[in-house]
This record gives sequence, C-alpha cells and structure tokens, in this order.
Amino acid sequence: MRMKLVGGNWKMNLTKDQATSLCKRLKEQEVDDDVKLAVYVPAIHIPLCQQHLGNVYHIGAQNCYTEQSGAYTGEISPKIIKSYGCTSVLVGHSERRDFFNESNEFLKQKVDACIAEELHVLFCLGENLDQRESGKAKEVVKQQLQESLFHLSEKEFARISIAYEPVWAIGTGKAASPAQAQEMHHFIRETIQNHYSNEAAKTTSIVYGGSVKPNNAETIFAENDIDGGLIGGASLKGEDFLEIASSL
Ligand code: PEP
Repeated sequence: MRMKLVGGNWKMNLTKDQATSLCKRLKEQEVDDDVKLAVYVPAIHIPLCQQHLGNVYHIGAQNCYTEQSGAYTGEISPKIIKSYGCTSVLVGHSERRDFFNESNEFLKQKVDACIAEELHVLFCLGENLDQRESGKAKEVVKQQLQESLFHLSEKEFARISIAYEPVWAIGTGKAASPAQAQEMHHFIRETIQNHYSNEAAKTTSIVYGGSVKPNNAETIFAENDIDGGLIGGASLKGEDFLEIASSL
C-alpha cells in the first residue's frame, strides 16, 4: 500500500567519469519492481544520470531554492529541476540545516516551491546527539514536521515522503538500532495520523537514513514502519547500493 523507496544521496562526490561508471554499474542489475529507486545527485550530473539511468531510477536533486526564477545567482529552482526530467527533490538534509543554517521555516518555503511544481519531496528530519541524550528526540522531530510540512493540505502532503535521519547516525558508521528507528518511524506515522488522517498515515512512506550498509539493511528494513532507506556513503559503491536495495 505504501511506496517502498531506496534513494542514494551522492552528496558532493564523484567526478563526471566516476559518476558515469557508477551509473553504468547501477543499470547492470535489476531490483524488485515494487521498490522505487532514486539517486539524489549533484545538480550538474542530472543530465548524465537521466541519460544512463532515467528509465529505471528516479533522478532527484539534493537541494533547491524557494523561488522558481530570478536573480538568485548559484541557486537552482524546482522549475528548472523539473525541466530536466527530475521527479524528486531532497529537502531538509541535516548537512543543509547545519552547514547552511536552513531553518524549519526556510525549508517550509522550499517544500512549497517543490509542491507548486508538483515534484515529489523526500523531506529529511531527525535529532542530533544532544537532543537524543536529553530525551528531546521526539519533540524535535514533531516540531520539524509541524513547522515545515503540516501547513500543507492532505492532498499536497501526499507528495511528501519522510526520511528519518538521526544526525548522530549520518556518516558515523553508527546506525540507529532497528528498534530505535522503528520507534521513531512509528511516532512519525502517529503524528501524521493525528494531524491528517489514518489514510495519510498509512500511505506516507517513511524511510530511514544513517549508516545503512549491506550488513544492516535487512534488519532495519524488516521493521513495520520502515519503508526503505536513504543511503549516503554506501550509495557511492554500486555493489553496496544494489545489495541494500535488494534487502528491501
Ligand atoms: C545521508 O547523508 O543521507 C546518509 C544517510 O549518509 P550515510 O548513509 O553515509 O550515513
């Protein structure tokens, strides 16, 4: 009933030749039809990825601006992203929040700009280590949902998938345990149910991100409320990404 999704977040990695090799490796192997595969790539690689992977993968942007056009040197709008055949945008990654000071309010504007162009949004949220250790993880996640997403109508919200990415697990090799991830995914689903409806809760895909590797993907994906993964480091190795995607 819910879309299963495995997305690779390449971050700011791979030269043109390296990206081409990875695309070629990814298209060598099929993954179950019921799993939606996506790659979120540096914007300059979008045409290359479309060319190699466009008929199997959803090609996504890692970021966008809040406006559709204008004097915003260096930025890329949802409208431009869409014009290159992309279907999805990553919004709210913790690296954007931390290094570029993106607030919940600013992310809300990015979400709106993507919705206006009828793009799918993979919205990233999650607590940092201090927030988890002080028992505030759920409060933080709820606030991220409320301040960036819950102004959307239920129809608009249907374009959103959530990536729960505890900041302490990203790039650290220390993934959340399946039980920790499941507890938060369940909480997110419950929060969606309380704000929207049972139907919205049941149909929203919530994927986990944070040090997912071939050796832990299966146990994480086995949890009831986990509908796939957002994969950083391991998405740069074709074999690893495909093995993770096949674990779903
Ligand atoms: C990410 O950056 O979204 C991510 C999950 O990274 P990693 O898999 O490397 O922890």
